Amino acid sequence: MLGKKTDANELKKALFYERQNAWDHIPENQLKALEAYMKDYRNFLDDGKTERESVETAVEILQKAGFSDIRTTKDTSKIYYNHLDRALAVFRQGKSGIQKNLRIIVAHIDSPRLDLKQYPLYEDEELAMLKTHYYGGIKKYQWVSRPLALHGVIAFPDGTVDSIMIGEAEEDPVFTVADLLPHLAGKAQMDKKANEFIPAEKLNVLFGGKPFNNDKELKERVKLQVMSLLNEAYGITENDFISADLEIVPAGRAREVGLDRSMIGAYGQDDRVCAYAALRAIIDEGEPDVSSLVLLLDKEEIGSEGATGANTWIAELVLSYILARHGLDQSAVIRRLLANADCLSADVNAGVHPDWKEVHELRNAGFINGGLVLSKFTGVRGKGGSNEAAAEYVAKLRDLFDRNGIIWRIAELGKTDEGGGGTIAKFMSYYCMNVIDAGVSVLDMHSPFEITSKADIWMMYRAFAAFLVK
Ligand code: MN
Ligand code: MN
Repeated sequence: MLGKKTDANELKKALFYERQNAWDHIPENQLKALEAYMKDYRNFLDDGKTERESVETAVEILQKAGFSDIRTTKDTSKIYYNHLDRALAVFRQGKSGIQKNLRIIVAHIDSPRLDLKQYPLYEDEELAMLKTHYYGGIKKYQWVSRPLALHGVIAFPDGTVDSIMIGEAEEDPVFTVADLLPHLAGKAQMDKKANEFIPAEKLNVLFGGKPFNNDKELKERVKLQVMSLLNEAYGITENDFISADLEIVPAGRAREVGLDRSMIGAYGQDDRVCAYAALRAIIDEGEPDVSSLVLLLDKEEIGSEGATGANTWIAELVLSYILARHGLDQSAVIRRLLANADCLSADVNAGVHPDWKEVHELRNAGFINGGLVLSKFTGVRGKGGSNEAAAEYVAKLRDLFDRNGIIWRIAELGKTDEGGGGTIAKFMSYYCMNVIDAGVSVLDMHSPFEITSKADIWMMYRAFAAFLVK
């Protein structure tokens, strides 16, 4: 109770929720550390545009920070577990014992993109092209008329695996999906709906344009030319595309956005912005009381299905490795540890776009510079298919974040019945644990150039660090 307050303004201040701007709550003496973090974060984005590259980059960062591969050590104080090169678990043992007080942060490291088909290469009108099959929720028209890069791996029958990355170095060529000129686009495109004027089967990548030799009788000379270049560089034949994971992603580096450099623009920030914050939080914490587990998973953008996604028993698998080192790898111990864990499903939310406010219910929306954003539930049509965090768990986190000076708010993804989406949260709640979605607001989510606020990222990182310590 507040006692008797007669001044209306004072009373209002005490009783009403007031939206905050995260920048107002970042002390001057943190700005240097904030900018250093953002530089490292941009490097993390540039070094990891696919789930495999993100795992590789994260492992390098972890090794530098003194973490070891669980398969090579008996000591479980600072370890990681690389799952099929596409998902990663990081564990840090707390002082209070291995069997209780587990904190989990789970994020994803896959992003919407164009995957190459299994027989991608063909020639048409003397141009070499690559067929693609899009991955995740994209607006197809955003992928035309821009420089694109090819990233991925090719696995050979002899067991070797080669990495490919073309289009990122200054001297590299890039690729593109060429759009139709406006002069001729009237009937073919302009009168159509936005989800129809670039059909999926026209998302074909321009890959080459020079014939192999002057023998005009020879068919598919341009295809032969690019295939022979690929063979020279990587030793591959057309059949090797079949055992490959090749992804077309936007070419170029993460950038600062705005004259004040207050934002970051890049491909793949959903959800590497949260993945990196979780990684840094588990590395940077001092001597944690509680044990912490960070899971960086794949396949979220297509529903978390598949061996490297959240809809697996990966959390149990990782804990069985760890608890085996302590002679405690019984399923009962693992299940209780998971059921009693507190979890943040670290994923991004939609930031209110000043030009498109109508899709949001502004009282319950996320804002750029609103700080950490929590979502009590996600889902579609009446919370369908989502996990909802219980009041008690939200209260516990309110207390934690407020005590640590974190600016945060709670938000839904758009108006009720406007659309919606799901996250990893429900797969973690399967283990009977407390879980809530936590991340930052993003403008232009799922586009080739997603926008986040440095202030929000900073608040999220500090919130994750506070969550993992106690
Ligand atoms: Mn996401
Ligand atoms: Mn997403």
